[in-house]
Amino acid sequence: MDQPYLSLVIPVYNEEANLEPLMERLYPVALEIGRPFEIIFTNDGSRDGSLEILRGMVDDFPGVKVVEFTGNFGQHMAILAAFEASCGEIVITLDADLQNPPEEIPRLVAEIEKGFDVVGTIRRQRQDSTFRRLASRIVNTTTNTITGMQMQDYGCMLRAYHRHVVDNINRCRESTTFIPALAQTFAANPTEIQVGHAERAEGESKYSLYRLIRLNFDLMTGFSVVPLQLFALFGIITAVLSVAFALFLLVRRFIVGAEVEGVFTLFAILFFFIGIIIMGIGIVGEYVGRIYQEVRKRPRFVVRRTYGFEEQ
Ligand code: UDP
Ligand code: MG
Repeated sequence: MDQPYLSLVIPVYNEEANLEPLMERLYPVALEIGRPFEIIFTNDGSRDGSLEILRGMVDDFPGVKVVEFTGNFGQHMAILAAFEASCGEIVITLDADLQNPPEEIPRLVAEIEKGFDVVGTIRRQRQDSTFRRLASRIVNTTTNTITGMQMQDYGCMLRAYHRHVVDNINRCRESTTFIPALAQTFAANPTEIQVGHAERAEGESKYSLYRLIRLNFDLMTGFSVVPLQLFALFGIITAVLSVAFALFLLVRRFIVGAEVEGVFTLFAILFFFIGIIIMGIGIVGEYVGRIYQEVRKRPRFVVRRTYGFEEQ
């Protein structure tokens, strides 16, 4: 096959039941576009039969390539590894669990061809639990507020990027990241379109509540220091207010005498501030931890082997 025009990037972690149905729908769509393409799967340390299925696909479908990790480095690292291996003019990411309909791909390609460099997507009638939807709404609005970016839906991974955006992402060496937000920082001309969204076809979501919280911390701390600044601001306001309060107590002492009541109110106020302080230490800790990770400069992911790249 010629130099690919389109690179389709798919992270895979324990998705054996989904890979064949995915390929059945994805491959015809890729052929239909009528330009040379590559489909790059990153096997993110799957412990089921996913790798065998993927290796079979490398033999059966021209253009299919596989990057095999030595362990589970996470969805975003899997996408980054495939980005580094990709060479298409247009790079499209999607999930392996058929939540992102492959039939939407031609629309994404069309948007890039119109001149947009990042095409985000908004999930029409999102098929996830109410809890996940509520959590996403909170994340989307807070992320937009504190990073100053404008995107309606950060979570949907069916997205298209122009080569120059992917090249810039490849130059970033950070070890915790969130690709849609990273791409947004390099986008000169982004757009968002609505796409369909289905329930996960087989298997379970790979994100537990804990992993979701971790991921959202990555998103918040990775793209903004506003949480730190807000915290400092809050500290200054509290300090000013407490000086005012102390002055008030001093004056009151001379006029009406020392106060004794309201001790528990004072406790309540104290506990509130202790809570805030612990939260602040936590926020600082999040940043310090990430700085530590970055200065160690460990490899972000380890590739054991690749398949399907040889013929180039
Ligand atoms: N995934 C991955 N590594 C991980 C977790 C997930 O490569 O550690 C892949 C997974 O195989 C799927 C995509 O990332 O293709 C999205 O994962 P999932 O569907 O579990 O997330 P959700 O849709 O629940 O957000
Ligand atoms: Mg999913």
